[in-house]
Amino acid sequence: MIARDSVKIERVETLLLDLPTIRPHQLSMATMNGQTLMLVRIYCSDGTVGIGEGTTIGGLAYGAESPEGMKLAIDTYFAPVLIGADANRVQALMARLDQGIRDNRFAKCAVETALYDALGHRTGLPVSELLGGRLRDSLPVAWTLASGDTAKDIAEAEAMLAQQRHRIFKLKIGKRAVADDVAHVAAIKKALGDRAAVRVDVNMAWSEFDARYGLAGLADAGCELAEQPVASAEALARLTGKHAIAVMADESLVGPASAFALARAGAADVFAIKIEQSGGLQAAQRVAAIADAANIQLYGGTMLEGAVGTMASAHVFSTFRELHWGTELFGPLLLTEEILQEPLSYQNFELALPTTPGLGIALDEERVQFFRRDK
Ligand SMILES: [Mg+2]
Repeated sequence: MIARDSVKIERVETLLLDLPTIRPHQLSMATMNGQTLMLVRIYCSDGTVGIGEGTTIGGLAYGAESPEGMKLAIDTYFAPVLIGADANRVQALMARLDQGIRDNRFAKCAVETALYDALGHRTGLPVSELLGGRLRDSLPVAWTLASGDTAKDIAEAEAMLAQQRHRIFKLKIGKRAVADDVAHVAAIKKALGDRAAVRVDVNMAWSEFDARYGLAGLADAGCELAEQPVASAEALARLTGKHAIAVMADESLVGPASAFALARAGAADVFAIKIEQSGGLQAAQRVAAIADAANIQLYGGTMLEGAVGTMASAHVFSTFRELHWGTELFGPLLLTEEILQEPLSYQNFELALPTTPGLGIALDEERVQFFRRDK
């Protein structure tokens, strides 16, 4: 057994992978035709290696961090803080990074993931157990229907139901007139009936007036939840509780301080917790604690991460006491290429959590090198 204080971080490596997606993914702010993953590997003196991922939606379309920017930030500013530090003391390391580096929540999340993965390999424990222990071994996973075409979306939902892969569907709306979007959602809910749950994500595209009209129409159509219908927290607060549809905060939720502000304003029935938006794995757990205290329900969100970020999210979400709305950890299913030695297991409408050490996944090094941008 190696003395714990002898385990040091020796090297930090970052790389960019460009992966194709199965179809264009339409959001109100961007259409994605591929996905870029920023992977970080942390090499420790005991031979353990941890992996982490930083991924964004549509480059810089969604937020201030990009995969390229994260790589630069980690190489230039994070690595000097990490190298030589005690690899076991994840919490202390994250506090040091927070002290010297403002914001950069996605990059911090990638680094913290790698630190926990390495710690898991060192101790033989899954990341979920290092985070306090899991309450579930698999997580329900919603699928996003984002073609924008009603008939196509219904056919896609039917195929997912037949494969027993998804029975919760989230429709990306907000690009068209509100009435057209409501008609689109209503037609899909009517076709699927009680066999599936239908939800929408407006990605902040509506004005408050649009939302008043839109939420009423969506509630009538049997849509159970609307994600971030408007941009401002004040407007979210005015809309929450007005219609028979749950209002979920997503873009407004950027870490524990924002969670507290939203909870205090009564600005949501549900929080979409994302590990990257929260600023890391422990930060996501702090957001969940605030939701718990405020009786706000939880949903496990995604930044459309690949397998590494998805599994890091799954380990965190498995530790939430309440996870009423399930998750949307389908990011890897949007990619046409596998980068793991063993693909993640999506079965019976759920994503299974490995019980092996760390994240419980292993990269296929040949595929990683093949898709690497900076070879
Ligand atoms: Mg969203």
